[in-house]
Amino acid sequence: MKSLLFSSKMKNKTNWRRIINLILIPVTAVVGDTVIQYMNPNISLLLKCFTDSATHFLLASFSWNYVETSSMNKRIHLVVSIMCGLLASIIDIDHFIAVGTISLQAATSLPHRPLLHCTTLFTIAALLFAIVSIRIHSIHLLKLSFIIVTATWTHHWRDGYRRGIWICPIGSTPPYSYFVYLIGLIVMPMGLQFGLRFVSDLVPKSKVKHAAPVYLI
Ligand SMILES: [Zn+2]
Repeated sequence: MKSLLFSSKMKNKTNWRRIINLILIPVTAVVGDTVIQYMNPNISLLLKCFTDSATHFLLASFSWNYVETSSMNKRIHLVVSIMCGLLASIIDIDHFIAVGTISLQAATSLPHRPLLHCTTLFTIAALLFAIVSIRIHSIHLLKLSFIIVTATWTHHWRDGYRRGIWICPIGSTPPYSYFVYLIGLIVMPMGLQFGLRFVSDLVPKSKVKHAAPVYLI
């Protein structure tokens, strides 16, 4: 009876943590976007870019922290959440690659969107990883595909409320309202968490024999 009460208390605690984590995602977005918007125009461009990158990082890290629920090792889970955030913030490196210089001024005034901002590219790559993960019975590869989706979608979704989502080679969606953007930031990790759980169930049922799934990350 005591252990039953204890496990129900722990479950409640975990649920509350997850709800707080979910709320933190749009809150971080609002804080990050507001800070950038109201920064003194004379303030260095470097600080603005750093704040922008940090916002992308936190949104992806919090999102992965919500998406992944089966991790047994807290430390590895933290490292993977940080890696997801880093992947999200490194995407903007394509601005520098496109202009061929490390000048912030040139990179931030690019007239078109560079390659890593194409949502189709990462979605197809992640989809392929997911299919292969089912075929080869690899939970690691499946989680990698969801990490890629979490990192890139949160980044593209945040950029998208100003410029739309770039579905290359078809074109771009129109920009959407700030409210839709915030709702999307909540719905996205919820959907991805459901998707990961659903596809994870398919992995142990794959036809590859003599291989047990390893739940590490
Ligand atoms: Zn971007």
